[in-house]
Amino acid sequence: MKNKYDVLVIGGGPAGALAAKTAVEEGLSACLVEKRPAIGAPVRCAEGIGKEALHEFAEPDPRWISAVMTGASIVAPDGFSMKLESHLAGNKVGYILDRKFFDRELVWKAAEAGADIAIKSRASSPIIEKGHVKGAKIESCGSVKNVTADVVIAADGVESKFSRWCGIDTTVPVREIMSSVQYVMADIDIDPHSTVFYLGNEVAPEGYLWIFPKGERSANVGIGISGKKSGEGHRAKDYLDRFVKKTFPRGKPIEYIAGGVSVCRPLDCTVSDGLIIAGDAARVVDPLTGGGIYNGMYTGRLAAKVATECIGKGDVSKNALMVYDTTWRASKMGKAIERNYHIKEYLIKQPDSKLNEIIHSVSKINLKEFTTLSLIKEIISINPKLMLELGALAASIS
Ligand SMILES: Cc1cc2nc3c(=O)[nH]c(=O)nc-3n(C[C@H](O)[C@H](O)[C@H](O)COP(=O)(O)OP(=O)(O)OC[C@H]3O[C@@H](n4cnc5c(N)ncnc54)[C@H](O)[C@@H]3O)c2cc1C
Repeated sequence: MKNKYDVLVIGGGPAGALAAKTAVEEGLSACLVEKRPAIGAPVRCAEGIGKEALHEFAEPDPRWISAVMTGASIVAPDGFSMKLESHLAGNKVGYILDRKFFDRELVWKAAEAGADIAIKSRASSPIIEKGHVKGAKIESCGSVKNVTADVVIAADGVESKFSRWCGIDTTVPVREIMSSVQYVMADIDIDPHSTVFYLGNEVAPEGYLWIFPKGERSANVGIGISGKKSGEGHRAKDYLDRFVKKTFPRGKPIEYIAGGVSVCRPLDCTVSDGLIIAGDAARVVDPLTGGGIYNGMYTGRLAAKVATECIGKGDVSKNALMVYDTTWRASKMGKAIERNYHIKEYLIKQPDSKLNEIIHSVSKINLKEFTTLSLIKEIISINPKLMLELGALAASIS
């Protein structure tokens, strides 16, 4: 690790890896620091990604694809299961990754492109001069080093502290943190090519439970519930254990993980003087699905492109870097986050009876494609009352 780079990237997840790789491909010097001793582990993810989304960044490789999905099912609170075949399921079908290897591969690519990589190296505080972020103190194996950079890209994940240290309010309301737990289960009877989502206040209050196959008889079986619904005796793990006992009584958990997913709106502003915030740290997870792998890679790459332009022009002020913020908000990803936030807010307020009604109605629709947008349009057309309930959002898409 040198003392000075064009770009310093904090965090070795998908956002940081794409930021470091793009920066060096654009001709900059870059260093990625990761506090953990190994990239990709431990995995805190259900590992699902849509086909199109993945293809934008990488050609699928059997070394890090655990399973290919060709369908999806949504199970209503009353047990009714709506099946979506692959030609309808669109971006809801895709791949279940092996993120231990996927994340590692992304960082390898950044290293091969020329980025310096420092593992077991934690950014412990920013270097700030006259309000301008100039780098970070990096703690590595007992020693501390000042590393300066023209632009720092904070890609330090959902627990991000770096931006907060730089004076940005990164608070997520408790009700908008999905408390999530997951088992990797072995020896279970599943459809190995279909994801399953369970909805309902008994199963997963203000969230959902998922089965994401990893092989013929193994899957990530997990749950996310609103932080405000979690408490003694009714934590996410309690709901998951009840489900697993009932559904897979002979299944064997071989791994357990717990983590938080933010399903709030993105940060009000994702740049500051000398600083760009990407991925989960910017709160750009899809608030409806909790998916953030694609959004991390997208914002990581964009962050490095904007950094390159601004460094080239000799202006890395907040004003100059704002193009990053406005670009991702105007993108398909940014618009989907905004729309899906409203849908999530609507759905979490519905009683099970309403969720049953919606899922039964949708199962009768002859959809040409299954996207959130087409689905909402169809639901509104068969249930105009929903237009009023969804308010401005519905009006804008109907
Ligand atoms: C239970 C669960 C299930 C999920 N399922 C899915 C799913 O199926 N599909 C999907 O798309 N998304 C899913 N997600 C979300 C997804 O995992 C994240 O959105 C994605 O990993 C975000 O990438 P990132 O690079 O922004 O952050 P991360 O992958 O979290 O990477 C951040 C990195 O920064 C490092 N770091 C933090 N602080 C420092 C520091 N001070 N110095 C150096 N390094 C630091 C961390 O160690 C970490 O490696 C899930 C999340 C959870 C918790």
